[in-house]
Amino acid sequence: MDTIEELLKNSNIPAHASGRQEPLANHTTFRVGGAAALWARPDQRDGAEAIAAVFQRAADRGAPVCVLGRGANVVFSDEGFPGVVLDTGGWNGIEAFDRESGRIVFRAGTLIDAAAESRARTSFGAPDREAAYDVMGALLTLGYGGLEFLAGMPGTIGGAVYMNARCYGQSISDRLVSVTSIDEGLNRVSIPFLAEQWGYKRSPFQNKKALIVDAEFALDKKGKDALYADMEAHRADRENKGQYRFPSAGSVFKNNPAFGSPTGKIIDELGLRGHSRGGAMVAPFHGNIIINTGNATASDIRFLVDDITNRVRKSTGFEIETEIVFI
Ligand SMILES: Cc1cc2nc3c(=O)[nH]c(=O)nc-3n(C[C@H](O)[C@H](O)[C@H](O)COP(=O)(O)OP(=O)(O)OC[C@H]3O[C@@H](n4cnc5c(N)ncnc54)[C@H](O)[C@@H]3O)c2cc1C
Repeated sequence: MDTIEELLKNSNIPAHASGRQEPLANHTTFRVGGAAALWARPDQRDGAEAIAAVFQRAADRGAPVCVLGRGANVVFSDEGFPGVVLDTGGWNGIEAFDRESGRIVFRAGTLIDAAAESRARTSFGAPDREAAYDVMGALLTLGYGGLEFLAGMPGTIGGAVYMNARCYGQSISDRLVSVTSIDEGLNRVSIPFLAEQWGYKRSPFQNKKALIVDAEFALDKKGKDALYADMEAHRADRENKGQYRFPSAGSVFKNNPAFGSPTGKIIDELGLRGHSRGGAMVAPFHGNIIINTGNATASDIRFLVDDITNRVRKSTGFEIETEIVFI
């Protein structure tokens, strides 16, 4: 593909951090998906602008671009992705921290929780990146809390902000101060947090094409022992619930308070745990998780999602909405 050749030639992407016809199953926790025409993870030392330049050049040349964090909430199709998958994993760590105010800026590719990633490694594969700080490691080292409710969740800061990740009654936006992003015109903007633009698993980035470069959060001082105990409790809870046992992307469907019960419970009540298609199965331990039992394809997962949606509609009249992103 000419565009891809040109992009590779004109960017600073080192050979070890790029691949043609790269299997996307290696870069997602569901471990499905065909190949990307080009997968690229620009080097940390080139800075955010290098990542943005690839993003912009690809867009300029009409090549489809997909920004990828840890791949913990996406399903790439079995046909793969015909353009550039821009992996932010090389842009990680703390960009700024102010001890006085507790304000911290994490780069988009920073892993949320390296400890959880390593517990889930057998199922999800290794997040093959140079580890600067992960978010949980940074909180522990600094002795500041506020984001520890996310302990145990796979993903990156960029993906969690894009999805407005939520668990244990809190959303990442509860602590958000601002987000720096770059659009396809290479305009770098700092977007202050405005509550009305954020909602349950909803962020303003879901409606635009932009690269999240970093995000600023407000933290509070917290004792390291208490922090560690809270993180471990969340990791253990997820482990006990079976979340690391199989490749998956966590909850498949969003909850909707109007339904009166969580979507997982509605699916359970329809007797769909264990319902399967090819290698994809509704987890026997949770109605709202689809697992890859070994040889699932993206189309197996798509089939199950559509089938569950239809069955729920038929028996309850509820229109359930997917949380996972099909690409
Ligand atoms: C076992 C398990 C448990 C989970 N539990 C939870 C949970 O409790 N709560 C929850 O909310 N989610 C949960 N998830 C889903 C997932 O962990 C989160 O959504 C996470 O925030 C995804 O981050 P990511 O970096 O992997 O994003 P990806 O999957 O890589 O991307 C998700 C979306 O964000 C976009 N994106 C990613 N990075 C950027 C960027 N820098 N700029 C612009 N767009 C970007 C992608 O294009 C894509 O559309 C779980 C997943 C698993 C596997």
